[in-house]
Amino acid sequence: MTTHRIALIPGDGIGQEVTPAACAILDTVGKRHGYELTYDTFDWSCARYRNVGAMMPGDGLDQIRHHDAIFLGAVGDPAVPDHVSLWGLLIPIRRQFQQYVNLRPIRVFDGVPSPVRAATSEVDFVVVRENVEGEYSEIGGRMNRGFPSEMAVQEAVFTRAGVTRIVDYAFTLAQGRRQHVTSATKSNGIVHTMPFWDEVVAERAGGFPDIAWTQEHIDALCAKVVLDPARFDVFVASNLFGDILSDLAAAVAGSIGMAPAANLNPERDFPSMFEPVHGSAPDIAGQGVANPVGAVWTGAMMLRHLGHTEAADEIEQAIASVFAKTNLRTRDLGGTATTAQFVDALLDILP
Ligand code: ATP
Ligand code: MG
Repeated sequence: MTTHRIALIPGDGIGQEVTPAACAILDTVGKRHGYELTYDTFDWSCARYRNVGAMMPGDGLDQIRHHDAIFLGAVGDPAVPDHVSLWGLLIPIRRQFQQYVNLRPIRVFDGVPSPVRAATSEVDFVVVRENVEGEYSEIGGRMNRGFPSEMAVQEAVFTRAGVTRIVDYAFTLAQGRRQHVTSATKSNGIVHTMPFWDEVVAERAGGFPDIAWTQEHIDALCAKVVLDPARFDVFVASNLFGDILSDLAAAVAGSIGMAPAANLNPERDFPSMFEPVHGSAPDIAGQGVANPVGAVWTGAMMLRHLGHTEAADEIEQAIASVFAKTNLRTRDLGGTATTAQFVDALLDILP
């Protein structure tokens, strides 16, 4: 029996509901696959911020540095500005632990309604988003406040090392999939950073002769994802473009409540963090009706990272089976099933 120590951060709102749901599935599957997860639970959240003025304690990162993985539900609160949870918790974890890959797989499951007519169950792609540099930088500022000459400047920072490692990750991932990479760019309008990005992609692609690749401007690419989502395999994109693409993609898949994500440190010198794409959903929190699929699938990604590939495959297969074989749908998918009913169905259908 292998034991993995998980830092569990349920967070706010439905984070409190979907993380126990996911853990129940991971623990059950573990009994057959020879692993056990032990959880240390942390109350880091916007609720904590409202009580004591900080999302996490000052030595928070040291408290979780030696865990095998971090599993986070969601953080957010209508009364707390988004930048507080972002800069007070998520970004410090991503940066300190060098989680430079943000991985967001998208599938359209048979039996799940997609708002996009062209979406079929052939839709199966992954967005590889650069997670620690690029457009989300602190460099810049405001000048001449209150004057007609007032301006704001925001610098984007792309390093050769940073672009190289994310591009290599995407091409390597494509080798185990359908051997196709689409790079998101905007080098017609952004004249310094994006041509640099394109240059590095072209250079690194030379080392992967088995991978077909294309580059597309982000605006045209968004249209293509809506018009013909099945043609894509692996996207590689900067922090901002990856953010946009993955929310668009989650919508194509039927609901943001379905979408999983991982913040990976591929070298494994620090823990990676696993958190579904959705937020705390204050409008439905506390009602027991959240869609648990995003969190459960995120848990499967964590198992994959910890080396339990078969267990992860089994969970993803169970999700597909519940949609294919039952009418159970949570409210976001137009149904009436509760979180608990959906989790029970998953537990029933697992081998
Ligand atoms: P936050 O500030 O935490 O980001 P938010 O309201 O801005 O919260 P989400 O939490 O992602 O963003 O919610 C967006 C919409 O999607 C809401 O209407 C919410 O109810 C719905 N939603 C998000 N996740 C789920 C889920 N797992 N199941 C059902 N509906 C969901
Ligand atoms: Mg939000």
